[in-house]
Amino acid sequence: MNFDYDLFVIGAGSGGVRASRIASGFGAKVAVAEEYRVGGTCVIRGCVPKKLLVYASHFGEDMETAEGYGWTIGERRFSWKKLIAAKDAEIDRLNGLYLNTLDGAGVEIINGRATVEDTNTVRVGDKTYTAKKILVAVGGWPALPDVPGIEHAITSNEALHLDDLPKRIVIVGGGYIAVEFAGIFNGMGSDVIQLYRSEQILRGFDDDLRSRLAAEMAKKGIDVRTGTNVTAIEKTETGVSLTLTDGSRLEADAVMYATGRGANTKGLGLEAVGVDLAPNGAVKVDAYGKSTIDSIFAVGDVTDRVQLTPVAIKEGHAFALTEFGGIETSPEHDAIPSAVFSQPPIGTVGLSEAQAREKFADIEIYESDFRPMKHTLGGSDERAYTKLIVDKATDKVVGAHMIGIDAAEIIQGIGIAVKAELTKSQFDATVAVHPSTAEEFVLMRNARS
Ligand code: NDP
Repeated sequence: MNFDYDLFVIGAGSGGVRASRIASGFGAKVAVAEEYRVGGTCVIRGCVPKKLLVYASHFGEDMETAEGYGWTIGERRFSWKKLIAAKDAEIDRLNGLYLNTLDGAGVEIINGRATVEDTNTVRVGDKTYTAKKILVAVGGWPALPDVPGIEHAITSNEALHLDDLPKRIVIVGGGYIAVEFAGIFNGMGSDVIQLYRSEQILRGFDDDLRSRLAAEMAKKGIDVRTGTNVTAIEKTETGVSLTLTDGSRLEADAVMYATGRGANTKGLGLEAVGVDLAPNGAVKVDAYGKSTIDSIFAVGDVTDRVQLTPVAIKEGHAFALTEFGGIETSPEHDAIPSAVFSQPPIGTVGLSEAQAREKFADIEIYESDFRPMKHTLGGSDERAYTKLIVDKATDKVVGAHMIGIDAAEIIQGIGIAVKAELTKSQFDATVAVHPSTAEEFVLMRNARS
């Protein structure tokens, strides 16, 4: 049977773009449909604009640090509008680069929302296209709980485009996005209250990182309230009024929800053609990204395995290698390093202490809690913390964690060592880079069990 395309990709985000480009490189005829802007969540409304805002929000503290180093800083003023315009220009530039990449790779871009009509047919507007293989790479979208008045809440999507910086903002949630935006708004000078329904923020992370981040956020003036949730939201003249689980009320200019992200499969037509979805709407796939239908595949956030851009890219690449390059490749999902761009940031790879205790009979913990050198003259009381978790039987480092300046930069290198299953002795045999924070990872010698 003749198809219009060898591969039709739905969604031009990180995973879809990588899969398109690599498949096309193997000679496949590829089209990618995008309903919004090429680049996807990470580039357009996620990692990239978020990180630019994190940089922006840190300058207030940097200027205080500078004074400790002899600088006199004059009058300070911050323009949210200027920042948002600069950020938008950068996102436009990156969007252009993505468009060029696809164009250069010979991938046809189709603007519009695609839906699946049958196992080999996709519809965009009033046109249908046939394809030997369909890749669903539509990503995710903020998931909002069913709270009365939730329509008055914003999500990270809107937070990146607010007309003005809110003077008082309430952030609901205790995951990556909530702590990152709490830090952003606090650094910009907003009064931030973060409400988290459970006992400690960043569930799933190592407990020492969780408690330390909560303490550092509190020191910086963020009011982190755990065991608290919102039961109703009302619009007021100046913003919102929230009713909390303890019956108290809270007034703010804005309330932002960061309560997880759900797969974007609604109305896509997948179930009708026999693709199995998980109860939360995620596409169920095998180790190669194949759904329950042989010609339909999925990668990235829509599969709800690990919601991280580099993972989506690896999954997209592996799919293209397997299906179009003849190289059977299944993306690995172990020892994935990740960073939370909180303030201070977190870097983590491998198992948390709690996970390691479940998996291994005997573990050793190496940790170091210290004041980063930059803060000695800078005057900040922010601390840093590094931690290694070792399986005693094999001496392998099974988890590495850090909170403190440059954690994201540092954990990438440590991630190689953990992925390579290096031992604590090999860490110890590595010469330190001095003076640095990273050197703690090769200098910790006293174990606790
Ligand atoms: P997360 O899944 O990380 O966190 C969701 C948070 O919302 C949890 O604290 C959860 O609480 C809470 N929550 C869930 N439902 C409700 C509810 N009904 N009422 C109140 N609170 C609720 O999601 P995020 O939205 O923060 O981020 C989505 C994903 O995006 C992340 O998992 C991550 O993979 C990715 N991401 C990665 C980043 C990075 O790499 N730096 C940055 C941003 C996002 P509880 O713990 O009790 O379940």
